[in-house]
Amino acid sequence: MTLPIRPELAGLEPYGAPQLDVPVRLNVNENPYAPSARVVADIVGAVAEAAAGLNRYPDRDFAPLRAGLAAYLARESHVSLAPEQLWAANGSNEVMLHLLQAFGGPGRSVVSFAPTYSMYPEYARDTSTAWHVGRRQDDFTVDPEHAAATIARYAPSVVLLASPNNPTGTALPSGTVRAVLDAAAQVPGGCVVVVDEAYAEFRRAGTPSALALLGEYPHLAVSRTMSKAFGMAGARLGYLAAARPLVDALRVVRLPYHLSAVTQAVALAALGHAEELMAQVDGLRRERDALVEWLRGNGLRVADSDANFVLFGVFDDRHAIWQGLLDRGVLIRETGPEGWLRASVGTPEETAAFRAALVEVAGL
Ligand SMILES: *Cc1c(COP(=O)(O)O)cnc(C)c1O
Repeated sequence: MTLPIRPELAGLEPYGAPQLDVPVRLNVNENPYAPSARVVADIVGAVAEAAAGLNRYPDRDFAPLRAGLAAYLARESHVSLAPEQLWAANGSNEVMLHLLQAFGGPGRSVVSFAPTYSMYPEYARDTSTAWHVGRRQDDFTVDPEHAAATIARYAPSVVLLASPNNPTGTALPSGTVRAVLDAAAQVPGGCVVVVDEAYAEFRRAGTPSALALLGEYPHLAVSRTMSKAFGMAGARLGYLAAARPLVDALRVVRLPYHLSAVTQAVALAALGHAEELMAQVDGLRRERDALVEWLRGNGLRVADSDANFVLFGVFDDRHAIWQGLLDRGVLIRETGPEGWLRASVGTPEETAAFRAALVEVAGL
């Protein structure tokens, strides 16, 4: 008896980095600092309150959470947004799936620029949207003219731009984002540009957020997450900001009550402690910059990073380096262009363990 699996899914393995129980985990760009006892207590209180009403479906439009997210972005990026311009889901991965469900689909295409986040082609596949990639330059930036030409060539209905990009750490200047938005505006039938800012809070001073462009471009969506800088990867809360008609299109494709009352309560409670949860971000940024310098000082190539990880290389046998680190209790990620590896920035102790292991394994 054969199962009628869609042919494009036949034989595929589910996506995901190995979840191994080792002392130093620097493989999925989490914030290494656990929430404090105070934050945990507040979350527990909020969940207890939500639990008392779990016989009812949750607030489908999660208005208080949208207002909380708007207030957070106003503080973080000094951009003022109405709560109706915010959307949220179970991780920004689900937010981006909503985008593809609303704006992609059979007969349509999505464009991105490689190397980039490996989930993007999966959203395309799962929504039967054709997937096309332009390329990033040697320094992993995107050439605005190449981007415009790629968009003109494929006439996609969605462009996915990660900035800072995963796995390279590269943030795009406003000029490049504007060039993409302007090219997208020329696509017959329209084209939504998604700037995936999962790592935005780690950007270096002077690096802009695409949130500042929202007022000018009704076809722009800026995606964020509580999984990285916010230190709430386990809570599964991602969100985006866009003009209201774009957000309203996402409300059509979401499943009913997709955000549980518990998730809403956890996210709201966590937002109330944004400052404390984000207190480590400056330290992680400094740790990142020091790690980039240290790796370069040891003769390795390192991509400029505005995120909480570094992409470094180039190794003839990167798998051997990855395995050697793992044998010493340090888990990083074998990803990116051939020969490169990605390591998240951890606590100073974790980063020190990574450096010591790398000295041994790579013979630095
Ligand atoms: C980690 C990451 C996300 C966030 O995923 P969540 O579903 O919000 O946990 C989104 N985009 C990129 C590029 C990422 O690296």
